[in-house]
Amino acid sequence: MVKECKKEVIRTPRRRTLPLKKRREGFAPVEFGLKREEALREAQRCLGFRECESCEICSLLCPDLCITRDEKTGEVLIDLDYCKGCGICASVCPKGAIQMVWEEGI
Ligand code: SF4
Ligand code: SF4
Repeated sequence: MVKECKKEVIRTPRRRTLPLKKRREGFAPVEFGLKREEALREAQRCLGFRECESCEICSLLCPDLCITRDEKTGEVLIDLDYCKGCGICASVCPKGAIQMVWEEGI
């Protein structure tokens, strides 16, 4: 089941670093990790998994040239009348936005 996610902009917490003067005094790490609360909030952010980013990698590799981009909306469209179901688009999509569905009797 896909969980509905609330779309809101959440800033990535600013990384804390060791002051320059302290860096000169030794070999301590200069970047600190996240605080517990920050790490929990980062882990709960919706990464938009399975949402198309319109990168068009799929359209570059489709052997049937049936993936196009709507010039007005920017949406990537698949013309299923010409798709032969090879699955290349689904395998190259970095977002996992394309799912192949087995159709009985075809
Ligand atoms: S499954 Fe269809 S849309 Fe995807 S690459 Fe193959 S022919 Fe193109
Ligand atoms: S379906 Fe995947 S590969 Fe195709 S444009 Fe969207 S994100 Fe890129």
